Amino acid sequence: MASASTRLPRSSVSLSNAEPGARPTRSRLTVLAGPTAVGKGTVSAYIRDTRPEVWISVSVTTRPPRPGEVDGVHYRFVDNARFDDMIARDELLEWALVHGSARYGTPRQPVEKALHEGRLALLEIDLQGARQVKESMPEALFVFLAPPSWDELVRRLVERGTESGDERARRLATAVVEMAAEKEFDATVVNTEVHAAATELVALMGSATHRRDRDLSGSGP
Ligand code: 5GP
Repeated sequence: MASASTRLPRSSVSLSNAEPGARPTRSRLTVLAGPTAVGKGTVSAYIRDTRPEVWISVSVTTRPPRPGEVDGVHYRFVDNARFDDMIARDELLEWALVHGSARYGTPRQPVEKALHEGRLALLEIDLQGARQVKESMPEALFVFLAPPSWDELVRRLVERGTESGDERARRLATAVVEMAAEKEFDATVVNTEVHAAATELVALMGSATHRRDRDLSGSGP
């Protein structure tokens, strides 16, 4: 069976367990980003459906819902005025105009709450957003989701069939630039198969958070 493979993290992620019964400490945020059509949404939806221990941020967006999308579950769908208001009130941890069409952002307060509660917390956002989070929360774990190959990325974009020919060409041009951003990330998960990629990601999140618990409690290396 095909599987995801994790390239070695460039940050101090280790595979240790937290002390049983340890008091909750602020956890470390994980940010998942990667090129268009690599399957970020599929991987995060799979985690949402199968790993209830992981808290996943619900973004706000100005784009209209697609069939089957539920307000408050997949996104919070807002109009431009409400989005402007959230920016003005500094309610967004990051936001970006994605693919030149709609704005997307991460509400700050729920993220802070999840981290305060010591939960495994995940943002699935675009590259511009990931760079903003790196500015404000450099201690977060930044994971790049990569395709097994460039040809496979093109195949996935064509297969999902949600974009016109022009739009597809535009997104592929963006993807070339996005692929070059991998070196900015702490770790890479190759999305060959969704279950394996999700499992790798959650394992990375757990080890990173546990490492931080131990660092904060000063209980040795
Ligand atoms: P879609 O409209 O297909 O659900 O998402 C389009 C893109 O928006 C994806 O690349 C996704 O990662 C990105 N995205 C979703 N939520 C956010 C967010 O809160 N902030 C940013 N910067 N990008 C987001």
